[in-house]
Amino acid sequence: RMAASVKVAVRVRPFNSRETSRDAKCVIQMQGSSTCIWNPKQPKEAAKNFSFDYSYWSHSSEDDPAFTSQRQVYLDIGEEMLLHAFEGYNVCIFAYGQTGAGKSYTMMGKQEPGQQGIIPQMCEDLFKRTSENTDPDLSYSVEVLLHTPHITETHMTVAATNMNETSSRSHAVFTIVFTQRRRDQLTSLDTEKVSKVSLVDLAGSERADSSGAKGMRLKEGANINKSLTTLGKVISALAEMQNSKRRKSEFIPYRDSVLTWILKENLGGNSRTAMIAALSPADINYEETLSTLRYADRAKQIRCNAVINEDPNA
Ligand code: ADP
Ligand code: MG
Repeated sequence: RMAASVKVAVRVRPFNSRETSRDAKCVIQMQGSSTCIWNPKQPKEAAKNFSFDYSYWSHSSEDDPAFTSQRQVYLDIGEEMLLHAFEGYNVCIFAYGQTGAGKSYTMMGKQEPGQQGIIPQMCEDLFKRTSENTDPDLSYSVEVLLHTPHITETHMTVAATNMNETSSRSHAVFTIVFTQRRRDQLTSLDTEKVSKVSLVDLAGSERADSSGAKGMRLKEGANINKSLTTLGKVISALAEMQNSKRRKSEFIPYRDSVLTWILKENLGGNSRTAMIAALSPADINYEETLSTLRYADRAKQIRCNAVINEDPNA
C-alpha cells in the first residue's frame, strides 16, 4: 500500500484571436515548475507565486525552447498514468479550469498531427503496447465508456460522437476498463488485474451567474456548479484530513454530487491521480485564473492510497 500525492500540473495556452485583437496582456510567468501571476489592476503588488509538479508554458509555439507540446504533456502525465494502469492501479487524469482555458485541448486536442491530446495518445499507446505482447499466457481486454453526468441520454449520444466539442456546461468522463489476465500453465488458474482509467474533462469552473444562463441552462448550470463546488469541498476536506493527520474519511462529501461520486475512488481513494489546471494567459481573466491556481494548489495536498487490483482466483 502506498500513499501517493495527486500530481498537479498547470498549463497556459496562447492568446486567442479575440485577446490578440484587444491587445491583451499576459499575466502569467513560468520558471521550471513554478508559476507566478500578477494582478493587472495592481501592477505594484508583488506577483503571487505557486509551485506544481509541472508548470507548462504553451503560450508560445514550437520554436520557443520553453514551449510545452501536446506530446510532452502526454509523456509526462499520460504515459506515467498508463504505466500505472499496466501495474494494475486505477488511474485518473482530470482537467480543471475556466471555459476556454484549454481543458478539452489538453484532454482531446485536435485531429491534426501533433495536436492530439492525452485521450487519443493514451488509447494509441495502450493498443500499441498490448499488440506488442508475445506472451501466450497473457491476454488483455479493453472496455471504453463515456459518461456525462447531468446530461440526458440524447445529449450523451451527441457528446459521444462529438467529444471534441463537448459542451463547456457538462463534465465528460471517459473511462477505460483495462483487464490483464495471466494463465498459470502449471495450475491452469487465471489471475486478473483490473484497472479503471478515468479521463475527465470538467465543465468550466467559472460561476454560472456570470455566464448569463437562464431557464433550463441555469438549472443545468446550478447542477454543474454543485458538482464543482462539491469537488472543491471534497478536495478541501481531503487536504484538511492530511494536514490534521486525522485519517477519518467519513466526512468527505462524495455523495453530494454525481461527479464526486463517480470520482470517489480517484480522489483520496484507490487511485493514482493527476490534475491539469488550464489557465488563460489574459489580464481580463485574472480573477478566474487566480482562483484556478488556488484550487490546483489545494489539490497538491491530497494523498491517495493506491493498491493493485489483483484477483488471484479470477
Ligand atoms: P475549454 O475546454 O477549457 O473550454 P478549449 O480546450 O476548447 O477550452 O480551448 C479553447 C480554444 O483555445 C480552442 O480553440 C483550443 O484549440 C485553443 N487552445 C487551448 N489550449 C491550447 C494550446 N495549449 N495550444 C493551442 N491552442 C489551444
Ligand atoms: Mg471544453
